[in-house]
Amino acid sequence: MRLVLLGPPGAGKGTQAQVLREKLGIPHISTGDMFREAVLQGTPLGKEAQKYMESGQLVPDEVTIGIVRERLSQPDAVGFLLDGFPRTVPQAESLDEFLAASGRPLVAVLSIQVPGQVLVGRLTGRRVCSQCGANYHILNKPPHQAGKCDLCGGDLVQRADDTEETVLKRLEVYEQQTAALVGYYQQRGLVREVNGNQEPQKVLADIGLALGRDWG
Ligand code: ADP
Ligand code: ADP
Ligand code: ZN
Repeated sequence: MRLVLLGPPGAGKGTQAQVLREKLGIPHISTGDMFREAVLQGTPLGKEAQKYMESGQLVPDEVTIGIVRERLSQPDAVGFLLDGFPRTVPQAESLDEFLAASGRPLVAVLSIQVPGQVLVGRLTGRRVCSQCGANYHILNKPPHQAGKCDLCGGDLVQRADDTEETVLKRLEVYEQQTAALVGYYQQRGLVREVNGNQEPQKVLADIGLALGRDWG
């Protein structure tokens, strides 16, 4: 299965991807996670990406396309779940071209819709495990013990770009540069719309229905 998860920051892409990767047995490829890992490792890529991520801007297309091509060239990427890529029309065009050349076109684009005013609260309340990356929310999905990961006991932290100011910038960038991809993929008959403004379990069930799988 070759899928793209499309939706604004805070739509729940990462949350759903964690479950979908298991259910579908495909790698979860998140450009945001790849960039954050590079920042943590202090690689040249990380140093370049950090400048943009901090201010809520997109990392330039050439850089982003390069890392995705490399990842999709690995042997496990026969099927995949892309999360956070593509985010611009040039990225989508480049992906189409790359996938066509290797004879493995996209099967569907899951467009997760959530009203703008809900997204701000989701992002400013998001906390992530500094060890295993699991995600939480101070109100919607609090950990059992405050500040600690339920899965590994690691410390929960707030992402540097989840402050209100940067969140507002990211939502603006989404509208300006990414929202048009819904139309781009609609023209190609790939879009499956999913209401992301409901319980995560219900979102997952709707994704199942959209993919023709009844895993409720
Ligand atoms: P994205 O990857 O699209 O930016 P996340 O999956 O990280 O979004 O979710 C953003 C925040 O919202 C997280 O704190 C997560 O726990 C919370 N969240 C995710 N899905 C839902 C949902 N269906 N209802 C309420 N909160 C959610
Ligand atoms: P979100 O939880 O908002 O969906 P991500 O974790 O996907 O955020 O992305 C965090 C940041 O990483 C983005 O604000 C951007 O700076 C950078 N980034 C991630 N994916 C891309 C991409 N496809 N193109 C350009 N920049 C990206
Ligand atoms: Zn953890």
